[in-house]
Amino acid sequence: MAVLSSCLGFPRIGANRELKRALESYWNGKSSAGYLLQTASDLRERHWSQIKSAGIDHIPCNDFSLYDQMLDMAVMVGAIPRRYRAIDDPLTQYFAMARGMQDEAQGVDVQAMEMTKWFDTNYHYLVPELEPDQQFTLDASKLINELTEAKSLDIAVRPVVIGPVTFLMLSKTVGDVSTLEFLESLLPVYEELLEILVDNGVEWVQLDEPCLALDLDNDAWEAYRVSLDRLTALVKRPRIMVATYFGPLRENMSLVTQSGCEGLHIDVVRAREQLDQALEQIGSETVLSLGVVDGRNVWRTNLDEAHALIGRAVVELGEERVIVATSCSLLHVPFDLNAEPDLDPELKTWLAFAVQKLDEVKSLAVEAASSSPASDAFTESRQALAVRAVSPRVRDSEVRKRVGEVDESMLRRATPFAERARKQRARFKLPALPTTTIGSFPQTGKVRRARAAWRSGKTADADYLQFVKEETRRCIEKQLELGLDMLVHGEFERNDMVEFFGEQLSGFAFTSNGWVQSYGSRCVKPPVLYGDVSRSRPMTVDIARYAQSLTTVPVKGMITGPVTILQWSFVRDDQPRRDTCMQVALALRGEVMDLEAAGITVIQVDEPAIREGLPLRRDDRDAYLKWAVESFRLTTAGVLDDTQIHTHMCYSEFGDILKAIGEMDADVLSIETSRSRMELLGDFAEQGYPNDVGPGVYDIHSPRVPSVEEMTGLLKRAAKVLPVDRLWVNPDCGLKTRGWPEVEMSLRNMVEAARQVRTELTGASK
Ligand code: GLN
Ligand code: ZN
Repeated sequence: MAVLSSCLGFPRIGANRELKRALESYWNGKSSAGYLLQTASDLRERHWSQIKSAGIDHIPCNDFSLYDQMLDMAVMVGAIPRRYRAIDDPLTQYFAMARGMQDEAQGVDVQAMEMTKWFDTNYHYLVPELEPDQQFTLDASKLINELTEAKSLDIAVRPVVIGPVTFLMLSKTVGDVSTLEFLESLLPVYEELLEILVDNGVEWVQLDEPCLALDLDNDAWEAYRVSLDRLTALVKRPRIMVATYFGPLRENMSLVTQSGCEGLHIDVVRAREQLDQALEQIGSETVLSLGVVDGRNVWRTNLDEAHALIGRAVVELGEERVIVATSCSLLHVPFDLNAEPDLDPELKTWLAFAVQKLDEVKSLAVEAASSSPASDAFTESRQALAVRAVSPRVRDSEVRKRVGEVDESMLRRATPFAERARKQRARFKLPALPTTTIGSFPQTGKVRRARAAWRSGKTADADYLQFVKEETRRCIEKQLELGLDMLVHGEFERNDMVEFFGEQLSGFAFTSNGWVQSYGSRCVKPPVLYGDVSRSRPMTVDIARYAQSLTTVPVKGMITGPVTILQWSFVRDDQPRRDTCMQVALALRGEVMDLEAAGITVIQVDEPAIREGLPLRRDDRDAYLKWAVESFRLTTAGVLDDTQIHTHMCYSEFGDILKAIGEMDADVLSIETSRSRMELLGDFAEQGYPNDVGPGVYDIHSPRVPSVEEMTGLLKRAAKVLPVDRLWVNPDCGLKTRGWPEVEMSLRNMVEAARQVRTELTGASK
């Protein structure tokens, strides 16, 4: 028997985002539930056929979802929170959980479940809510339906089911109880499910347990032991493939290898070193699935390297005990490279999207036992890699020289914060509790249409520029009228905070169809960072200078930070991420210096993505934080003492990384805090965060206008924890998704709230 191939999951949104369209049109009442379900069924059929015709042996099922796989799992085990239970129609109930629901006629007004990031990806899942008296009951209808569909197409599938421990670890519950306490009551549902799968002709089930790649405490360790014991002890069950991804299992691997599971999948793209460990530890009958084709990035696989890894496994275990696989689900990569007619042809030969990755998996499986693979696929892979390795579009010796010359002094502001703060105070003469915003103002339909017209060539450059200036001028006037102490230009010229910079830097390419699901129907199109990064001309200086020319009140220059640009792109895999980040940082440093030279006195460098780059294992975090902080400092540290550096992050659960945030040494840090009612500021006080902080006082994620009292309340709470003279007043995040009327009212209230608290706490009126 030859080596088998498998794919852990496939993009579900569709080659042309058919699912997105069907969902949105259903939500808007423009099409029926029947149409949505039919679209979903068609997509599954198409994807299965595609995977099958690529020759993949283990084809996933139940990886499809109308919204999110964790939500599906919550429904499958009957974890439907009380507030949704009055909604009778299952589909309506499902989307109410995903998106919330307000329906006066039905008397329903329920909030959505919380959403958060799936490990270190840009995908967001819905967090299951377990009630104190949670009862679990199996509802396998979705999965059974998909099995029936596959059967009618004569396609054998391997259902993907999120394992019980990962499900619980990613859930939340009320009070101080650990969600793992629910394991005993949850396991019977999984046992029942496994039995039903056998009745439905399932041979293998893929039990996704990505939490095995995390640091586990004793309780989690014990939960894994118990759950794998219990499930494997079942008499009637399919063979179990425990799937892990996104990182090494290290000490946790024995949990699987010492259990009675028939298969273990490991991610050897992220953690190649675990192959040896697996070969050493794996049971004498267990199948090892090797994730050698990267499900997280868009690069063409180095087939020879992958083949060498597979070859070692084949020698040790024999062909029948090795499966060649994608590293994780292909959910995180775009659908098909062939849908990119405008991408540079050479660059294209270096890439592989989901469809191409299936072919790579198959080619590797076919050649697994051969000592010198010579198929076309291998030849092409070798050629593409050889070209890429020496391509002048990848390597720019100027950039390398400049990065090589970066020294310690470039990573440090010339003067400590206290002294800079004094100079800045003298320069800006701001009142206590100065008010400002995070950067963007509403991207109205008008703004987006104007940009689209310019992009498609319908509007001349000069006219578009004029339009942007006009919007900027109006925005500055509005802020002056509102009485804000520090202004922004509004970001009307920007589509997206990474794309805008990527398009002006060398080393980035943009796809026309490279969509990846972010959550529900929302997709993002990350740029491809393929080569050495440099900046040929200023990117934001003209608009910043123009905005500042309209007023004597300081207007912040606004750029996106290096870590965020890295984190929200598909990053080259031919050098360490750190090196790429330093190149981006050096290019941005040039921008910061140009802004300063143009008379911009305050510069904000946004880093909303610093946290999501954090490695899953504690042991790996310091190394990441070190270069993340260094790259921010390389970007910002070249300015004069009295140039004020701001940064912004879209969250405030800093806890264990607060020290690193402090080391970034921004003069002012604005963060999200209004939803947690300032509670998270406690960390800042306890850990002695040294510089200025702007805790968001207004939640921009909702159109609600916060009252003056609400915001004075929040400000006073903040002032109890942190010194008033280090506090700023601002919203939680940028205002681009909001409408002008609510923004105006909210900011008016915010300025008034700041004024009141200022008077009360400092006795000053302005
Ligand atoms: N300056 C950006 C804005 O206001 C920051 C956005 C973000 O952090 N996500 O839109
Ligand atoms: Zn933000």
